[in-house]
Order: sequence, then structure tokens, then C-alpha cells
Amino acid sequence: MSGRNPIEDLAHLRHEFGEHGGVNMSIEASSTFTVIDPETMPALFQGRAGPDKGCYLYGRHFNPTVYNLGRQMAALEGTEAGYCAASGMAATSGVILGLCNAGDEIVASNAIYGGSYALMKDFLPAKAGIRTHFVDITDLAAVRDAITEKTRLIFTESISNPTLRLANMPKLADLAKEKGVQLVVDNTFSPLILSPARLGADVVVHSLTKFISGASDVIAGAICGSDEFIGQLMDLHTGSLMLLGPTMDPNIASAIGLRIPHLPLRMVAHSERALAMTARLSELGLDVCYPGLPNHPDHELFHELHCDEYGYGGVFTLDVGSVERANTLMSCLQNEQRFGYLAVSLGYFDTLMSCSGSSTSSEMTDEDKDAAGISPGLVRISIGYTGTLEQRWTQLRSALRTAEIIDR
Ligand code: PLP
Repeated sequence: MSGRNPIEDLAHLRHEFGEHGGVNMSIEASSTFTVIDPETMPALFQGRAGPDKGCYLYGRHFNPTVYNLGRQMAALEGTEAGYCAASGMAATSGVILGLCNAGDEIVASNAIYGGSYALMKDFLPAKAGIRTHFVDITDLAAVRDAITEKTRLIFTESISNPTLRLANMPKLADLAKEKGVQLVVDNTFSPLILSPARLGADVVVHSLTKFISGASDVIAGAICGSDEFIGQLMDLHTGSLMLLGPTMDPNIASAIGLRIPHLPLRMVAHSERALAMTARLSELGLDVCYPGLPNHPDHELFHELHCDEYGYGGVFTLDVGSVERANTLMSCLQNEQRFGYLAVSLGYFDTLMSCSGSSTSSEMTDEDKDAAGISPGLVRISIGYTGTLEQRWTQLRSALRTAEIIDR
């Protein structure tokens, strides 16, 4: 499984040239599309003609530029089809509403992004009668026990936010198959590094807002799965995406499409910087968590499942024991050292850091945070690749001294 480089498949993707022969595809700025032959119109509405045959119905259904990005995402994830939406949350909620009806159940990892947690814990039971059992996704027996005859899907992040545990996707996929449920994986933290569909997942979702955009300038999401599943989400009568309408703007699709070719370089740069920083923090005896470190509980499994060329990802955590100390550290890193920014999100070219318990996981109850291992002093760091390693290390070390986390 390891050693396979998913970007290779992109090379085989049909390149669409711009309208005037531009090396890049033109941005299709139309919300509606003409048909030459009136007979094509009913064919479009009945699903007999579609974007695969170069026929478009309406911009909320498919747009050529957005469709092209969807195909790039499908190639990246090794699925038949892909669809891009307005945000990562639109992708996740569209998938869940596509797979579940009122009364159905989800088994989800108890360590996931706070917005996805709130969607499943609070929103879906109240609005749609869909309930979720949260479990430790690394405990396969617990996952198995939580599945009932009402379960429709297992939801997990490939690498959990913010605890950085790795889901054993091949084992979860076997279990999902045995129980006749779908395995849905959010691969936001590890594009190229991990390929959930190749490891057995049925559906892969992404927040493109993060590493895939890489510039913290757009909000966007993607869903990768079978032709049949993407078609189902776009069904004119029952499709969750078609009817709820979280459509991606073609300008955003074009901008993101132009960044995918250098995603591999960026992921390597993030991973190299994260490994170097965490190795040094670990040498100082600090409580650092990163899948690339040999003491990480999933280091071996990660090594088995990931694509070597892209390393172990650009996110690590540092537990400094209390929220006060974490705040002193982050404030010093941003305001004195100019090491990075005290901001949520990840995948930016500069460093972003936040205390997960009081920010992106604050939707979780204290009990659930405890169970997931999200302590108050846990700082999540999405490491940037700007500046030199030595320059950044000097800044980090100084701030650790100021916050009295180290004394030398
Ligand atoms: N999935 C993960 C792992 C995330 O970290 C986030 C946002 O932080 C999302 C999904 C939601 O993405 P978006 O903000 O693009 O809706």
C-alpha cells in the first residue's frame, strides 16, 4: 500500500485547454447553458445527458470549471468521480444527508473537527432525526459494538483533528463491508499522504480550505466517490447537494485547480518542517505529538499506510499543561517572535496555531474532550514552510523560554 504516489494519476487526466487555446482552462462564467437541439433539454433533466457528455443543465447542478476540479480531486483520491462544494462542511453534510434518512444512525470517531462533531451531535438529531454514536476510532471492537441495524455509515478523519491519531482504514473498510455500511473518511489533514479510497473507504471528503488551497484565502470542499454516489447527490428530486445548493463558484474552482500541481511540493515542505521541529521539541523533553515521531502510537501503521514521498503531514500538537501557558506561548510566538499566527485553520504557507480545546473543538463537551484526549493546554500547530528552519527554530525556542516551558 505504501509507496504509491497518487499524483501520478493526475498526469493521465484529460487536460482541458482554455477557450482560445490557453494552457489553462477558461473560467466558465455562465449560470445557465444553451442546448442546440431542444430534445437535449428533457434528456438533461432525465439524466440521459450530462457533463460527462459535455452537456450542462444549470450552474447549481454542474459547471464545467467546477466539474474539472472535481475530476482532478477524483484523480487525486483514486475514485471514479468527484464533486466540489462551497465548503468542507457542505461536503460532509451533503454526504451524510445523501446516505442517511430520518431514523438512521452514524458511528463516528470521537476525535473530529468541532464543526463536524456539532453537525452530528446537535444539528442532525434535532433537524433530521439522524443520531450518532461517537467512539474511539482506533478501538475496532468499540466501532463494531456501536454498529446497529440502523447504522448507515462510519465517519472518521484519516488523521484526527486535533489528536493526530490515525484511523486504520483497511480494517475499518473490512468492518464496514461486513456490516453493509459505508466508510466515509475526511482526508483534509493528509492529501496525497494518505489515500483513503485506495485503502478501502467508499467516500472521501475534503475541506479544500486547508492544504489543497494552501493560502487561507478561500473556503471550499470536495466529495470523492463512485459515479453512482455523486450522481445520487446531484439527483434533481432527492440529491442533497442539488437541493440544498452549496455550490462552488467557478472562479474559486479555477484558482484551486491552478494550485493542485504544486500541492506535492507544498506537502513535502510542510512535512519536512514538521518532522524537524517535532524531533527538536522531543529532544527537549516536551509533550509533542506527531505521527512522524517513533514514539507516536500509530507511527508503524502510518508508515505502512502512507505514501512515503509526502512524509507525515504538516500538523503537530504541543501540550504545555495549561491554557494560560498556551496563551503566553502563542502570544509570544505571534506578537514578539513573528513565528506564525494565532488563528484557527491549517494548511497555510505560514504557521497557524490555536488551543483546540477552546477553539476548533470548543463545540465538544468537557467530557467528550477528555475522552478524545483534548486537554486545555494542547496547542495545535499547522507548520508553515516560510523562513528557514534555523530562523523559525530560534523563534520557537525563545518563545518556549518566555513562556517558562523550557529554561535553557
Ligand atoms: N474537516 C476538517 C478536518 C476540518 O479541520 C475542517 C475545518 O477546520 C472542516 C472539515 C470544515 O471545513 P470548511 O471550513 O472548509 O467548511
